[in-house]
Amino acid sequence: MHELRLHNTLSGKTEPFVPLVPGEVRMYTCGPTVYDYAHIGNFRTFVFQDILRRYLRQRGLKLKHAMNLTDVDDRIIANAAAAKVGIREYTEKFVQAFFADCRALAIQAPEHWIRATDHIPAMVELIERLQRKDFTYASEGSIYYRIAKFPAYGKLSKIDLSGIQAGARVDNDRYEKENARDFALWKAPKPGEHFWETEIGPGRPGWHIECSAMAMQYLGETLDIHTGGVDLAFPHHENEIAQSEGATGKPFVRCWIHAEHLLVEGEKMSKSLGNFYTMRDLYGKGFKPSALRYALGSVPYRRQLNFTFDGLEQATNSVARLRNFADRLEQGRFPAGSPSGFHRRAEQALSEFDAGLADDLNTAVALGAAFDLLREANTAMDSGQFGQEDAGAVRRFLTAFDEVFAVLPDDDAAKLADLGFAAADGAVSPTEIEALVAERQVARQRRDFARSDEIRKELADRGIILEDNKDGSVRWKRK
Ligand code: AMP
Ligand code: ZN
Repeated sequence: MHELRLHNTLSGKTEPFVPLVPGEVRMYTCGPTVYDYAHIGNFRTFVFQDILRRYLRQRGLKLKHAMNLTDVDDRIIANAAAAKVGIREYTEKFVQAFFADCRALAIQAPEHWIRATDHIPAMVELIERLQRKDFTYASEGSIYYRIAKFPAYGKLSKIDLSGIQAGARVDNDRYEKENARDFALWKAPKPGEHFWETEIGPGRPGWHIECSAMAMQYLGETLDIHTGGVDLAFPHHENEIAQSEGATGKPFVRCWIHAEHLLVEGEKMSKSLGNFYTMRDLYGKGFKPSALRYALGSVPYRRQLNFTFDGLEQATNSVARLRNFADRLEQGRFPAGSPSGFHRRAEQALSEFDAGLADDLNTAVALGAAFDLLREANTAMDSGQFGQEDAGAVRRFLTAFDEVFAVLPDDDAAKLADLGFAAADGAVSPTEIEALVAERQVARQRRDFARSDEIRKELADRGIILEDNKDGSVRWKRK
């Protein structure tokens, strides 16, 4: 295993990552705000954190990972009030949709999925702690954080505080980013809107206090890793630091990791440009969950990801190549041993794969190692220079590969069916293919070539190509 190095926004450097408690990583991810369906940009960030999570586990680390669902914020409250339903009722549909999207993208469930509205008491307690230390002041029923009281403010985002006006306040959680302001920890209720009756008065939490309170409740006062998209570094994460460190006096997070944004065809994704997509929009256009996961994960997280339909087609082909190769490996009949020592090549590829991921999660290098191996293994198989021992080593590579990339199981049709998309492409399962191939073998043995051709044609119409090997065995692959 290579030394793991990660880019820490706080230090501005790529540095060795060593968890505070040996063998265990405490990690927090800012989850979605469930006022609508999450979009592909959000999922770029969530696939990145999943790859990080999976790779940490592959390295033998135990994960304590919490991810929140922001199910109360300005937009949710306004939308729920307009729809005349409670906020829990309003958000439920989007919470379930988010879980379903995560399952389709093979995003592992964190150890703790937590909802903001289940943790109001922890937020109130944290605000009280800040009140006792004089980090807060009240105004018109709301409670604000006094950032002048926290000299380290700005250390994460390196924002220039020279122009800061003492006492300038902002109520909106997601404000314009040119300058720092005192932000609301607790917001006074507005007529007709949802609020909680608490020890610090009636109202509702600000967005930033949620993450501080929940992260510390589940993971302790100092976390190893905190992730999110780059847009969250300021003000959200800067405010999380101010709140948590103000209250505890301890470092809140040791390593902050931020994923760059996804652009669509070179432009910012926005509803007005008409280039705004949810996962479901893309499934509706016939793309598969595995191709989306691959496309989102293939670009290293610190580079902007330019999402294009061409790129998605290429991702579809890459996944098909990987799966065809895995099928060939399973179905092939290889001689015993290792005729040309190819297994050493597979072991080297595994080392390159690990080196790529250990280097700040360079997924492009890790994928390069996989495709080089695949090409060379195909050549070795074609020339009979590939034995069972080699197959074992290549299988070990594919297992490690898929622990992180999670695209090999051929389960797209089932996932799409779960999401309510009919398997319109007549997707055919490996079991069904094997059964038809076996039936065709029997037909050929009794020289029933009409039936044998019929089966070949039926499979071809459903996207499966058969190749008859010289030794009488049959290999199938998807077109
Ligand atoms: P939100 O639901 O707005 O709180 O965002 C959820 C996550 O998606 C956050 O980590 C954001 O930083 C991230 N995010 C939002 N837009 C994009 C984008 N275009 N590309 C990548 N990540 C994004
Ligand atoms: Zn957060």
